[in-house]
Amino acid sequence: AWRPEDEDGQRRGSSGPVKVRVPAKVNLHLGVGPLRRDGYHELNTVYHAISIYDELTARRGDTLTLTMEGEGAGELALDDTNLALRAAHALAGYAGVAPHARLHLRKQIPLAGGLAGGSADAAAALVACDTLWGTGLSRDELAGIAADLGSDVPFLIHGGTALGTGRGEAVSPVLARPTSWHWVVAIADGGLSTPAAYRELDRLRDTGAAGTPLGSTDALLAALRQRDPLVLAATLGNDLQDAALTMRPALAETLKAGEAAGALAGIVSGSGPTCVFLATGEADAVRIAAEITAAGVCREARVAHGPVAGARVV
Ligand code: ATP
Repeated sequence: AWRPEDEDGQRRGSSGPVKVRVPAKVNLHLGVGPLRRDGYHELNTVYHAISIYDELTARRGDTLTLTMEGEGAGELALDDTNLALRAAHALAGYAGVAPHARLHLRKQIPLAGGLAGGSADAAAALVACDTLWGTGLSRDELAGIAADLGSDVPFLIHGGTALGTGRGEAVSPVLARPTSWHWVVAIADGGLSTPAAYRELDRLRDTGAAGTPLGSTDALLAALRQRDPLVLAATLGNDLQDAALTMRPALAETLKAGEAAGALAGIVSGSGPTCVFLATGEADAVRIAAEITAAGVCREARVAHGPVAGARVV
């Protein structure tokens, strides 16, 4: 197998360690279309990367190993089902190199929270191993490998704010004036399964109990250009929210508490159970987070801002 030390000076790779920081995502708009023949739903979504990060460090090794600390340590399997390891294998296969590295994850993104933590780790592993191994792929090539690992992985390579179509893997950046939006992220105890949330939405739709689907992202994209959080607040939406609320009725209390604290809007993030609230500014976000925490309606409320960059070597 190819090893960095065999190669000419152009593609030697790094002697390591290579540290990569990767953000969590929220969906400002999550429009869920019909179920496709391949079992995925057609999505129309606006992804937004926020300042809650996992950190992955890659070092030279004789085999491929993974260790971790932080959110989900002791719960998350560190075998080949882990998305960080699957990503390393996928990159090695694509580039024709030996998948040798010692990976270490420091997780701050909660497990199964609707913040795409697993996808973030896959994106981080692709970027870290690409640098460690000196395979030198472009962001678009990495995003191509990412799409096979999970629908959200390509977005987490790019970061920022982006439109997602297909099953979410086809991303194109949303060009907006540089603005920071301020969020409160209410993390629940325990996760929700993404496939279960989609199944619940299908069930609600079959029985006529689901809300009207969101439709186009036009209003949201226009709001992003306006820089006014009040305007943005009115356009946030998530077709999976009803499903998350039937599976976890207590989330209604979390959303209410955010509203009572003066958040401009609150939505369930992705398939939940994390709820995110839009604030007018940073100080407002800190205040709302404190009130939500005091109301006892979540495990932890954090403040975050977005958009931020995707998986990057730091
Ligand atoms: P999404 O928003 O993309 O639906 P999520 O935030 O709800 O995802 P994740 O934390 O990404 O959920 O992970 C969902 C499942 O993926 C976990 O329960 C776990 O079984 C699996 N998984 C595999 N690798 C990882 C990883 N590195 N971090 C977290 N989950 C992982």
